[in-house]
Amino acid sequence: MDASTYTIDFWRAKAGSLGFRTKHFIDGAYVDSADGRTFPTINPATGGTIAEVARGGAAEIDRAVAVARKAYRSGIWSRMEPRARMAVLEKFSALVESHAEEFAVLDSLDMGKPVMDMMNIDIPGSVTALKFFSETIDKIEGAVTATASNALHYILRQPLGVVGLIVPWNYPLMMAAWKLGPALATGNSVVLKPAEQSPLSANLLAELFIEAGGPAGVFNVVHGLGEEAGKALALHDDVDKIGFTGSTEVGKLLMIYAGQSNMKRVSTECGGKTPQIVLGDYDDLDTAVTYAVNGIYGNQGEVCNAGSRILVEKSIHDDFVERFTARTRENFVLGDPLDPSTTIGPLVTAAHQKRVLSYIDIGRQEGAALRFGGGTLAASPEGAFVEPTLFTGVDNGMRIAREEIFGPVAAIIPVAGLDDAIEIANDSIYGLAASVWTRDVGKAHRFARDVEAGVVWVNCFDHGDMTSIWGGFKQTGNGRDKCLEALTQYSQTKSVWLNLG
Ligand code: NAD
Repeated sequence: MDASTYTIDFWRAKAGSLGFRTKHFIDGAYVDSADGRTFPTINPATGGTIAEVARGGAAEIDRAVAVARKAYRSGIWSRMEPRARMAVLEKFSALVESHAEEFAVLDSLDMGKPVMDMMNIDIPGSVTALKFFSETIDKIEGAVTATASNALHYILRQPLGVVGLIVPWNYPLMMAAWKLGPALATGNSVVLKPAEQSPLSANLLAELFIEAGGPAGVFNVVHGLGEEAGKALALHDDVDKIGFTGSTEVGKLLMIYAGQSNMKRVSTECGGKTPQIVLGDYDDLDTAVTYAVNGIYGNQGEVCNAGSRILVEKSIHDDFVERFTARTRENFVLGDPLDPSTTIGPLVTAAHQKRVLSYIDIGRQEGAALRFGGGTLAASPEGAFVEPTLFTGVDNGMRIAREEIFGPVAAIIPVAGLDDAIEIANDSIYGLAASVWTRDVGKAHRFARDVEAGVVWVNCFDHGDMTSIWGGFKQTGNGRDKCLEALTQYSQTKSVWLNLG
């Protein structure tokens, strides 16, 4: 459809015409919670309730896991002929693409993301992920090793069994797709627990899997709160693995739950405090500034790799701050996420707004200089908005430089040069991503080698495609999404030794 079709009226009409799928999706059918409990999902732009959603707990998780196990053991998916499985996942990806507008509205209403970000970022990212992993299915190989002539030894790569996927609210569809792709491609059965702040798109996803020819029971959805449904899934003795994206705090709990139950595998994609480093030798400051503002304020700053610590060499500091301020004013418009001209929507909830505002108070009290922002949106007091905010004069010891704020709050830290920048960049419990802007090839490689982060960008920020691995160092966790590496997270090796006599 022509981009000019996407007016605010188009999106409002679309939102008004949608029916919401609010139950659990187990064994290909919608079911309520056994005790009939629900929770409200709230539109953060208005504060109004969008829908009441089934509130699952241990009973629903038990039911979904039993169904997933039965489907797995039956071989209906796990041993489906690879090219047949591939065809299902390819069609699944195409169906997600053809339902783009519906997904865009569902996630935008639920968590406040500008609807056009859904169309331009989340949907293409989700479709490509599902397609990429569908294409891998008949390319997954085992190995035959060099043994003595009286034996044959081969290594099979097999699915894990039942996989629980626990995902966050900041990219509801895309985080689910990044994990579903490799989990389903390798033949597992899945129980997905969406975030309680953004439950609405998951059921459409599960329905489309069935429409694509996926067998019932292979992809199930249980809604509910983290400490109820999520915890029950992570403690379940018949779940083989939890694939998690979310906070470091919850990631640590999941590792405890695994130890308290069946020692299931846990892969964690958790928080970040990404440093963006701009060195004085970089000759195209405007480009670096554009990436820097987009790197922190895009998606309301609710991004695991938000470039929240901006380390600028002292020689260009003042110029950088001036251009950063101007570019933010040009690029970022707060408003109704269904308005195509909006580039920053509300934060996910009023509680999160309060939390982000409290960090802005902390920054002031710590002695950082508030250069702009810090407020809400006067025109929409009922919405959970926070203006793009910049602190300068930040010291890496301050809480606003150490803790993940997960909102549109940038901290500029002046640095003496590359060595100083690397030391400060690495002085963090997190290690998801890092970027450097420099024309000095030696400095670029030194940075790439020495920075403690799983993803490094040189002279860009947030670039990548499905062939680049996504995952962090340190307390960002051990998970690896995207890329062929993700397949190893949802499969296991089996060693088979044949005595040839
Ligand atoms: P969160 O940890 O609060 O919740 C994530 C998921 O965990 C939700 O589905 C929630 O219901 C569930 N959960 C919460 N408590 C649980 C418990 N006790 N047991 C089991 N499940 C539980 O995170 P969030 O607020 O939804 O998301 C924001 C966080 O996600 C940020 O820290 C961000 O950095 C991180 N994130 C990381 C990546 C990455 O790739 N590294 C990507 C996106 C988001």
